[in-house]
Amino acid sequence: MSETTETIFSKIIRREIPANIVYEDDLALAFKDIQPQAPVHILVIPKKPIAKLDEAESQDQGLLGHLLLTAKRVAQEAGLQNGYRIVINTDPDGGQTVYHLHLHILGGRQMEWPPG
Ligand code: 5GP
Repeated sequence: MSETTETIFSKIIRREIPANIVYEDDLALAFKDIQPQAPVHILVIPKKPIAKLDEAESQDQGLLGHLLLTAKRVAQEAGLQNGYRIVINTDPDGGQTVYHLHLHILGGRQMEWPPG
């Protein structure tokens, strides 16, 4: 699959298409998934257009940590005191469809293991 850094998520960052944004800072944006797979389904993305986890580099270490801490904060603010799941789909076998790195926060129901 061709991986450009310009995706629908870049348009959401620039407010060119609408999204239900729940958190924003200088480095990250969090918004509700348009096709939720759980009662709470929020995406956390870096504003930097990293296509996928495989393209993150050592200089992105702090940013990756920030995304995880942002996910924790957003999950808490979404009321997921009972737990939640963080998912990063990568490439075709991982089920990635949008090539702008994103963390899925899934919660509000019992998750199953193994995932499909
Ligand atoms: P992936 O399959 O790449 O891990 O996840 C991409 C996610 O982005 C999917 O869960 C999909 O529903 C979501 N998504 C795709 N396009 C849009 C959009 O335009 N707006 C929002 N809010 N979510 C989107």
